[in-house]
Amino acid sequence: MDYCKYHPLTPAAFHCQHCDIDFCGHCINEDPYRDTQRCFHCQQDLDPLGARNSAPPFWRRLQETFHYPLQAQPLIFIALISFLSALLSFTPFAMLGVLVLSGIMMKYCFSCLESTARGQLNPPDITTAYEGGVALMLSLILILVLMGGAVVAVGLYLGPTAAGLLATLMVISLPAVMINFAMSENLLFALNPLNSIKLIHTIGLPYGLLLGFILIMISSVGAIGGLFGSQISVLSLGLQSVVSNYYTVVAFHMMGYMLFQYQFELGFVAQTDEDSEARSDRDRLLAHIDVCVKEGQFGKALKLFSEGVHKYANDRELFEMCFNFMCATKNREHIGNFTSSYLQLLQDQGRPELVRGVFKRARDVNTEYQPTDIKLRVHLARDCHDSGDFMTAIKLINGLHKQHPEHPLLLEAYHLMAEAMEQVPKMAAQLPACHKLIAQLKKQTAAAPVQKSPQKTRPKPTVDSAPKPTLELEPVEPADGNNNDLPPIEFR
Ligand SMILES: [Zn+2]
Ligand SMILES: [Zn+2]
Repeated sequence: MDYCKYHPLTPAAFHCQHCDIDFCGHCINEDPYRDTQRCFHCQQDLDPLGARNSAPPFWRRLQETFHYPLQAQPLIFIALISFLSALLSFTPFAMLGVLVLSGIMMKYCFSCLESTARGQLNPPDITTAYEGGVALMLSLILILVLMGGAVVAVGLYLGPTAAGLLATLMVISLPAVMINFAMSENLLFALNPLNSIKLIHTIGLPYGLLLGFILIMISSVGAIGGLFGSQISVLSLGLQSVVSNYYTVVAFHMMGYMLFQYQFELGFVAQTDEDSEARSDRDRLLAHIDVCVKEGQFGKALKLFSEGVHKYANDRELFEMCFNFMCATKNREHIGNFTSSYLQLLQDQGRPELVRGVFKRARDVNTEYQPTDIKLRVHLARDCHDSGDFMTAIKLINGLHKQHPEHPLLLEAYHLMAEAMEQVPKMAAQLPACHKLIAQLKKQTAAAPVQKSPQKTRPKPTVDSAPKPTLELEPVEPADGNNNDLPPIEFR
């Protein structure tokens, strides 16, 4: 069994000939318009591996196979059909009755084959046997008559050896004929020896095993029949019929399973319930990113994330994944701009409690990162101050009066800075300057008419285009000159 390159515990469902990679159903790019599957790397169509790769071979699940008809509904159905046929065979309508009842039974067996071929490993509802049983039975009888007729004709013209050989070939090809008939519902297609040869050649050895099991079952029907005594009665006939019908269901289930396993090679595409659910564009994008990350193609993954956050600008989960990716890859270059968008999204979606954690992680990657939005910075500074991180609070406010000289939040921001400085002994020297600036801001606020703070809209999320915000910080040596943790504070 082959496994997905990116999910080593998941059986592969597709193969890319170009890249020589096996994929599971998650790691592929399905094309909803063409109903095909493509490779994320080379965009070529993928070969489906079918269930042959994921489903265990039928001889490994013999117990389940023989338990298949042992459920209340099919068992009652088999018993009912068997005893009714036994009963009818003692009446003048024997031929017609047996034809109709066998037709119903065969219809049910074909339903078992078809539902198994679709990957359903439980017997279908018995209501599937109601319609079309007689027509099906007539088709099957026609198949047997034509095959038998061919043997007789060969016997007459070419002698008994040739007839015996042909009969053997017919027995060997009978399951193939049945599978082809179930697959095509076309008598001529099923009877064409070339199609039988193709099927047997495609399945190979497992077909021989299937045939072996069918022959064992047929011979055991005769052996079990002997146990019921030589006297012909409704009971003995009924019991023999139960056994042979039970084996027939098992045999058709086996044939269906073979069709399920080799569906791709046989050109039969089983429509399972899983297939019908198409993934959204977003889920496909995430699958693509997953594949790129596991291949170490971080640049490509970043580009896909960038497209994703533009397209799904309110998708917090996607933003979080992108942010985690940038932190994990220590993307110093882009994390700043992206974090500003992400933080704004968190604010907009009413998750301010997450803001500080995100900011801190962004700072771990890029120690110089500052959010661009003044409201966000003051909010963060307040948060840091309240949780005892005074230095970060000071750094967040530092320089705001230069970047937003008229902003109404400045006064509050520098009050906060003064409060934080009082808690840091090393900043004491800078405190008077801060108070001076506060006084200036007070004057400025009193002189200016009250302005509503401008409504900021969230900047378009970006990971690669916008230039980094430039902070004009004049490098000022800290008061004691030996603490690298202190920011150059400016008040002029
Ligand atoms: Zn996978
Ligand atoms: Zn490929």
